[in-house]
Amino acid sequence: MSLLAQASDEAARYRAYGPRHIDDIAARYGLDDASRETVRLISMVLPFRVNEYVLEQLIDWQRLPDDPMYQLVFPQKGMLNTEDEKRLAVLADQRDAAAKRELRETVRDIRARLNPHPSGQMSLNKPSQNGVELPGLQHKYRETVLYFPGQGQTCHAYCTYCFRWAQFVGDADLKFSAPDPSGLITYLGEHPEINDVLVTGGDPMIMTTDRLRTHIEPLLGVDTLQTIRIGTKSVAYWPQRFTTDQDADDVLRLFEQVIASGKNLAVMAHFSHPRELSTDIARRAISRIKSTGALVYCQAPLIAHVNDDATAWRDMWKTELALGAVPYYMFVERDTGPHDYFKVPLAKAAGIFQEAYRQLPGLARTVRGPVMSATPGKVAVDGIQDTAEGRYFQLRMLQARNPALVGRPFRALYSDTAAWVDELELDPATDLDIAEAFLGSAAARLHSAGPAENTHS
Ligand SMILES: *Cc1c(COP(=O)(O)O)cnc(C)c1O
Ligand code: SF4
Repeated sequence: MSLLAQASDEAARYRAYGPRHIDDIAARYGLDDASRETVRLISMVLPFRVNEYVLEQLIDWQRLPDDPMYQLVFPQKGMLNTEDEKRLAVLADQRDAAAKRELRETVRDIRARLNPHPSGQMSLNKPSQNGVELPGLQHKYRETVLYFPGQGQTCHAYCTYCFRWAQFVGDADLKFSAPDPSGLITYLGEHPEINDVLVTGGDPMIMTTDRLRTHIEPLLGVDTLQTIRIGTKSVAYWPQRFTTDQDADDVLRLFEQVIASGKNLAVMAHFSHPRELSTDIARRAISRIKSTGALVYCQAPLIAHVNDDATAWRDMWKTELALGAVPYYMFVERDTGPHDYFKVPLAKAAGIFQEAYRQLPGLARTVRGPVMSATPGKVAVDGIQDTAEGRYFQLRMLQARNPALVGRPFRALYSDTAAWVDELELDPATDLDIAEAFLGSAAARLHSAGPAENTHS
């Protein structure tokens, strides 16, 4: 019996499937040979992980290869360039040691060209104590610190667009994670201005409840802390985490305990497509989370082939509202991994956002976007402006390393193709402090990328 068939007998128990299960998956769902070969080759370079729930309930196998859930999780032709894919194909079938070595080198070389660490400036936001860096913390905005628990650095399935992909293929250091919250607790003691901890990953909900508790419970005694957020894709990829998993009830008790301590608990749920909200079990998961007093906020990046149409966002945001969750951020995808495959130009992104936003009831217009999480802060593209001097993107700082810049509008010259802030040119009349935040000088070009912070899950 195949590995998969065994697993399906106990569908409710989480088990990760990866590249070595692709033949079984192909046989079970009638994946054609070309698609199977694509997964086999591309998953040598990019991470691939799926599970029973995603396979059975989210992917529409009748709609391959365009199905958004299939695109979300399965590696696709076009994610690597044709020459690279050919090279992999030739090398992958050879058995001798020299070819195997060359294959490893090729994989490393392709990964290196996919901008695996869009994080050149990670050191900017890394707190330290007595000159020693505190692992697993990122402090970029005055009131919020990101916390990466060491055992939460993986996910129930992997998004093909994941900007933490290098970590999942073992390419990025896991120094980026904290073994326990002692460093965080000390840091919070020294920084009473922080009232918000965002526990993130990977996905913290991959941890057992007992493990998660060791990271959360110590925070409850920190008086200056008002809010604990948990960034997670689990409601989309494995809602069983909150319903039928062995410790699902325990996790709800933990959430209740957070609320009972007087703190706010927000589950920052990553939903990429309305289908993820369509299953009974996902809806039950949201309802159970909310029953603890926790709030559910929703966010996702805008991704070509997955959700680059206004109807998908409108339906998603409306459904979120109907389920009592709060639409929060639409992100612009970062420049890493198969970015050329997924990227959506800012002009198109702004159009999609506005078209969807216009059709929302007021209570769902809590959502903001499209937002770029760049070095100086979170930059929203508020729209396109036609003026006597020409066309501009109207931009706004939603978050900023420099708190004085929060809320400040500014603009950049319009471009049809720019897909990230570093491809934009600031309006020469931009305030000096905004221009400086982007470049560290008053020059007019915006500066690129930021830390590989996980803001959308
Ligand atoms: C987005 C983000 C936050 C949270 O910002 P909010 O606007 O409060 O949601 C915190 N830290 C980093 C690094 C972020 O990117
Ligand atoms: S985008 Fe988020 S949920 Fe998806 S694989 Fe990456 S870390 Fe996990």
